Amino acid sequence: MLRQKNLIFLGAPGAGKGTISDLLLARHPLAHISTGDLLREEIRKGTPLGKETEALVKSGKLVPDELITELVKKRLECPDAAAGFILDGFPRTIRQAELLDQTLAGMKRPIDRVVYLSVDDELILKRLTARQTCSSCGAIYNRLFTPSKKENVCDKCNGVLTQRPDDSLETAQARLKVFYTQTEPLIEYYRAKGLLLSVEAADKHHVIDTLLTELA
Ligand code: AMP
Repeated sequence: MLRQKNLIFLGAPGAGKGTISDLLLARHPLAHISTGDLLREEIRKGTPLGKETEALVKSGKLVPDELITELVKKRLECPDAAAGFILDGFPRTIRQAELLDQTLAGMKRPIDRVVYLSVDDELILKRLTARQTCSSCGAIYNRLFTPSKKENVCDKCNGVLTQRPDDSLETAQARLKVFYTQTEPLIEYYRAKGLLLSVEAADKHHVIDTLLTELA
């Protein structure tokens, strides 16, 4: 069991938050709360929230702070999150971080550590534009770095691999800009609270080894 188990993964899109979450979850049963996944699921199901947020998500813009915080709050109240959680892609603004602080204070479940995954822009754009996701099981591949054995087919379940619409070069660049203007200030926010763990994230094995040591 990890000693530090209420975690935030902070990083630009393509920094590897999802991949590192999967590697950590394979060893420790934490709730994986990816706000991007939650929103894509609402969009897929065509719920009112999905309809309200679809255009923003597809264009790489942030959905409103109060709305996303409410979604996270509901997910944190699910029983599996009591044993620890990874917040992947949330918070993304200072306002969201403040709302999260209030929510967690009310639940008496403070954040133990904020992991910042640091990666060069050039590598990020390569990762994003070559990323593929299995439409059946959600497994993540990369045409350049971790390709599936058979082109466009999932190794695990034979599902069809697709590219996220927001991973086109143009939208990926826009998302990176959103990260630098709206999300990067969170690094200092959490450093000031003494919670930040910054990890050089070009190599996922280095990241997971560091996390297993630092969070134990
Ligand atoms: P992700 O899968 O984390 O890259 O998120 C995909 C998209 O979902 C983002 O580009 C935003 O449009 C939206 N999104 C995800 N998380 C948040 C958040 N914390 N705040 C606002 N929008 C978000």
